[in-house]
Amino acid sequence: MPKATSFPLHADLETVLVSETEIKKRVKKLGAEIAASYGNEEITVVSIINGAILFTADLLREIPNPIRLDCIRIASYRNDTKSHGKPQLLQSLTLDISNRHVLLIDDILDTGKTFSVVVDMIRKLNPASLRTCVLLDKRGRREVEFEADFVGFQIPDKFVVGYGLDFAERYRNLPCIGVLKPNLQNPPEWA
Ligand code: 5GP
Ligand code: MG
Repeated sequence: MPKATSFPLHADLETVLVSETEIKKRVKKLGAEIAASYGNEEITVVSIINGAILFTADLLREIPNPIRLDCIRIASYRNDTKSHGKPQLLQSLTLDISNRHVLLIDDILDTGKTFSVVVDMIRKLNPASLRTCVLLDKRGRREVEFEADFVGFQIPDKFVVGYGLDFAERYRNLPCIGVLKPNLQNPPEWA
């Protein structure tokens, strides 16, 4: 298990899956991979918030290309009674992306439902190209076939928090990525 740093929220983790140091190293490399793939082209980044906020902020500073940034918000209805529903777009694009090179960024690729909906939506807007990037990939959980072009880390089928990923809106500020202790995964006061 990677060594945890002295951040108080670490005490709530059962396991650290990706340390702060590993994230920093991988994000730097991903930035270089993305820059190499786009050459000198301008990139229109579409980030799925809130989860991808921290990853996007760090990643963009590793990509020297000209960049335009837009954010969209999706309701995925995880863990509630509507969980079989299609992810809904809550906040749409503000930039025109037609004929632009679009890079879609999310925190984690799980069932694939979110990406399939967003990718369909973006394709309809006629971008010059569309590539996708996720920090984490839980390949074993896929329900809709989808592979991202750029992936930070493959992780096992565990519910993770930290570095943008939340549990009931907490833990996004944790600098590493880990699994919560079982007794913290359903505290009634957070319902
Ligand atoms: P998908 O539509 O691929 O099933 O799910 C993607 C979304 O579900 C992610 O953007 C993220 O918001 C959420 N998600 C999936 N797995 C996890 C996880 O392990 N931890 C957290 N915090 N969110 C997750
Ligand atoms: Mg998300």
